[in-house]
This record gives sequence, C-alpha cells and structure tokens, in this order.
Amino acid sequence: MAQSVAPALSPTSTPSVAPLPVKAVLPWAVFFGILMLALIYFVGAEQGATSLISGENVHEWVHDGRHLLGFPCH
Ligand SMILES: [Zn+2]
Repeated sequence: MAQSVAPALSPTSTPSVAPLPVKAVLPWAVFFGILMLALIYFVGAEQGATSLISGENVHEWVHDGRHLLGFPCH
C-alpha cells in the first residue's frame, strides 16, 4: 500500500510567483549576449588573418568546438 508523504494542496492555494521585471533582466541579457558573441568569435573565427591572439593556442583549445558547431577548419 503506497502513501503520499507530501501534503495534498487544495486547488485554491496556488503559490504566487512575482513577475521578473524586464529592467532587471536586460543588463544581464546584454552582458551574456556579448559574452556569447565573444565565445562564438573565438570558436569560429580565431585563426589566420582574423586572429587577435598570435599563435595556434586558442585554435587548438576550441578545435573540437569548431567541428561540433560546423565551422570550416581544415
Ligand atoms: Zn579541425
């Protein structure tokens, strides 16, 4: 015989959730958007003529990510 441990909620006692204001979320969304664009740049375009950092270290670190995301490589 199975018994529920959690107390039964009455249909009228729904928990209230405060809405998240857009003004509070927007700066974080912009910040993480820029962070993601920088990450996509380093994964997808950081080699050859468009390279910001000389050498092959960045390319080697993100090499599997390039192939996973379908960027042309070699
Ligand atoms: Zn490759």
